[in-house]
Amino acid sequence: MAYDDGNIFQKILRGELPANKVYEDEHVLAFHDINPQMPVHVLVIPKGAYTSLDDFSTEASPEAQAAFVQALGEVARLTGVDRTGYRVVVNNGSDGRQEVPHLHAHVFGGRRIRGAVVRPEA
Ligand code: AMP
Repeated sequence: MAYDDGNIFQKILRGELPANKVYEDEHVLAFHDINPQMPVHVLVIPKGAYTSLDDFSTEASPEAQAAFVQALGEVARLTGVDRTGYRVVVNNGSDGRQEVPHLHAHVFGGRRIRGAVVRPEA
């Protein structure tokens, strides 16, 4: 799927929309979700124009891919959920119910998650 340059997260990256930033480096930006589902709900996005995990994992540089994973750990430490536990979710594509077409990982924490596992039927 072609990358849509007008998506919300690209506008945040271009500075056209505000974001409540948690972490930033050369490859990655992390910011609080505008509609948090948990006490801690942070989105981690690559700065490169990747729609999904499919194109990121096949086309992004090893450095960018490593930075994305490292940023997940950094966000957990910065928000304190490394001490209590957390869940990382990537909604991917149509069946995964991805709404914003720029790869993003959700970091959820700050209280105990009720569902022990993801419920595919939900
Ligand atoms: P997904 O369903 O995985 O594509 O998740 C998209 C997420 O982006 C949702 O949790 C939204 O609340 C969040 N979101 C949408 N617009 C913004 C925004 N301007 N700033 C921060 N988070 C946003």
